[in-house]
Amino acid sequence: MTIVDSTVFKVRDSVDLFLTDGTYLTAYYMNSRKRRTFRVNEETVALLERIDGRRQVGELRQLMLEELGAKPESIDRTLESLHASRVITEVGCTSPLERDDEERYARQTNYFAEFLGDEADGPLAQRRLAESHVAVFGCGAVGGDIAIELAMAGVRHFTLVDYDVVEPSDASRHLYFDLADIGKPKVESLARRLREIDPKVSVEEVFSSMRPEDDIEPIVSECDFVVNTMDEPYIGYTSAKVSRVCVKHDKAHYIAGGFDAHLASTGELVIPHVTPCVECYARYFKESLKDWKPARHPVEDRALEIGGLSPMSLFSASFAAIEIVKYLTGIVDMSCSYKPRGEWLFGDMSLSYLDVRRDPECPVCGEGVRL
Ligand SMILES: [Zn+2]
Repeated sequence: MTIVDSTVFKVRDSVDLFLTDGTYLTAYYMNSRKRRTFRVNEETVALLERIDGRRQVGELRQLMLEELGAKPESIDRTLESLHASRVITEVGCTSPLERDDEERYARQTNYFAEFLGDEADGPLAQRRLAESHVAVFGCGAVGGDIAIELAMAGVRHFTLVDYDVVEPSDASRHLYFDLADIGKPKVESLARRLREIDPKVSVEEVFSSMRPEDDIEPIVSECDFVVNTMDEPYIGYTSAKVSRVCVKHDKAHYIAGGFDAHLASTGELVIPHVTPCVECYARYFKESLKDWKPARHPVEDRALEIGGLSPMSLFSASFAAIEIVKYLTGIVDMSCSYKPRGEWLFGDMSLSYLDVRRDPECPVCGEGVRL
């Protein structure tokens, strides 16, 4: 950064500083839970004591020269170093957010900023969220809760796709239903809830399932991110279709939900040509299960419906929402920190991940397929 006389710095709100033996300065970065220790001299300690969020750099240079005989070049080098280490941040930058949004998302932008650079970068990440358009296929317990969490985080454009209406059993698992909604389309109830969370949200409601003849390309091509939890006709089919179209249009997507008897699956983030796509997962399972032969079950009349528990749906939804926020804001480089599909177990609270890699032979995202 360029430091000029009028630049004003402050110690970041999210950083706690501790000095040991007058020599070691430890910075606790409260948002990212990191800690760094620096060897410092008397001049750095004195400078930090004089950075108060009001004094301009010109005044700091003068003060340090008069009181400690510190040279201005040395002060500038220390300021640059403290700034690069994200101990101090520049103040007085103009926020790209409207005043009410600055207030609404103050805690969140503070959080984002620690992963980026200056505190002014937090509102920029918030703006990226606000400008994002997310399509959610399947608005049940997991899909609906993801949409709610994203709306609360500040996503302002949604397309909701679902074929179902609210039933009495949904009220125990879905955050956005009450008894007055029974019989109404889920997309209608969820859209109303999103607008209640944030009147600036725009929602397109599509009351439909995902049949083989349905063309989802117009929806996918218009949005920035796609979530799939749709289980009609079944989750394997809809996920494969969503992922194929998303890879074609280079759209990141999330396959979420407690599907296929995995009640608290973490699902998976798919970034085309970076992480494994749904077809890569399918090929992984085909290979790892090639020697497994399903036995005919002796009980023929089995109930096909699996159970559910609201906190487990919320776990899956929250896990997905965190990954989606990280991707949309760009606060974390997801190409090197994404997780493949995982499963959280109710009994011992363990969380394990599959070891799935991109398949170079994948017909959807493999080496022979280019954008
Ligand atoms: Zn693939």
